Amino acid sequence: MAYDSDNVFAQILRGEIPCDRVYEDDHVLAFNDIHPQAPTHVLAVPKEAYTSMEDFTQNASDATISALFRAVGQIARDLGLAETGYRILANTGDDGGQEVPHLHIHIFGGRLLGPMLSKGA
Ligand code: 5GP
Repeated sequence: MAYDSDNVFAQILRGEIPCDRVYEDDHVLAFNDIHPQAPTHVLAVPKEAYTSMEDFTQNASDATISALFRAVGQIARDLGLAETGYRILANTGDDGGQEVPHLHIHIFGGRLLGPMLSKGA
């Protein structure tokens, strides 16, 4: 799938629409989800354009992949989730229920999340 530069996260990365930023470095921007499904619900996105985890793991550099996962851990610590625990999730493609076609990692925490998350829970 070709990258759609009009997707909402691309617009956030370009500063065209606002976000509630919680973390930023050279490779990664993270912001609160607009429809949180847990007390903490953050989206971590690479600044480079990748449609999905499938695209990312095939085409991103090792440095970029490392930076995203390092950032996810740092964000969890920054938000106080490291001790109580948290969940990360990357919906991928149609069966994965991915809605926004720019790779993003959900970070959920702040309550007992149960065995799985269901939408709207
Ligand atoms: P997906 O289903 O693609 O894994 O998740 C997309 C997420 O993006 C959803 O949780 C949705 O609430 C969030 N989202 C969609 N549009 C916006 C937006 O404009 N701003 C923010 N902060 N989150 C958004």
